[in-house]
Amino acid sequence: MRTLEYRGNATIGLGEKPIPEPNKDQVRIRIAYAGICGTDMHISDGQHPRAKAGLTMGHEFSGVIDKAGSDTTFTAGEHVIVEPLISCGTCYSCRAGFPHVCANLGLYGIDQDGGFADYCVVPAQSVYHLSDSVPLVHGALVEPLAVGVHAVRLSRTKVMDTVLVIGGGPIGFFVATAARQAGAEVHIAEINPFRRRIIEEMGFSLFDLPADGDMTMRDEVTDGKGFDVVFDAAGGASTLRSAVDLARVRGEVVIVAVPPQERVISYTPIAFKEISFVGVRVYEYYDFKRAIQLLEGLTIELSKLYRVFPLAQYQEAFEAAKQGNGVMRVLFFLGEGATL
Ligand SMILES: [Zn+2]
Ligand SMILES: [Zn+2]
Repeated sequence: MRTLEYRGNATIGLGEKPIPEPNKDQVRIRIAYAGICGTDMHISDGQHPRAKAGLTMGHEFSGVIDKAGSDTTFTAGEHVIVEPLISCGTCYSCRAGFPHVCANLGLYGIDQDGGFADYCVVPAQSVYHLSDSVPLVHGALVEPLAVGVHAVRLSRTKVMDTVLVIGGGPIGFFVATAARQAGAEVHIAEINPFRRRIIEEMGFSLFDLPADGDMTMRDEVTDGKGFDVVFDAAGGASTLRSAVDLARVRGEVVIVAVPPQERVISYTPIAFKEISFVGVRVYEYYDFKRAIQLLEGLTIELSKLYRVFPLAQYQEAFEAAKQGNGVMRVLFFLGEGATL
């Protein structure tokens, strides 16, 4: 079968691997669509510490059950998506019911072969049924949407809150989508002109981060009080400081994106305004379920968010994903010749 592999030394390329066989509690999926995430770009740039040469990349994918192990409840032909987390089951987090923050957390597509391939074998417990109302191409968006659902569910966002999402890339956009679903009025700070246009077309309000502590726009949109919740989905050098400045007294700052380097911020406004911080990481089982339900009912035109490439055009696809101009999410179509 075809694969797109990390070859080591910051190179990727097409490869061939034997079609894997599922054991009795696994399923083999004929992959239909797979999204390129920031993590895949880190891997291709040689910046991911865990990715080894020979790895089939890709952790955001949808497909069709090709072969189901005898102990599973899946049947061939069923449309599915994969929750790509691999937890150890024995560490404190796993035993305490938080396998998504497992001390030994891994992912398909990073630590084990993932979805940039014709087939993938995964445990049945990582697989979710996709109803007919969600096309397979949208199934590849569930994983990043689940990140947004998790961030909002772990936050204090309440109905009628005024919320700011800093960063209007795919993750920020899906955080905003989930926050709107929770009943909040959502503003998004983003500078990329293409993303700004999409954000407006999808009915969100654009917010310009103040460069010099000027709170005029914040006070206009929040009636002088500041945002109830600010999500930092950009992870920029100064975005955490902006988040603290823009949050209201006793507001909350949610750390969604984390930059590789440490950031310096003043503690004074955090203490004086009694700001709460909450960190969020990936998603839990329930977030994944809810993300699928959210997609089922979503009325926005999702096709504006993504562009689809065949696997053979992986270089163009990665280039488009890196530039982030003219497209929110880049997806591969891998289902050529398959019954989907
Ligand atoms: Zn991802
Ligand atoms: Zn664990």
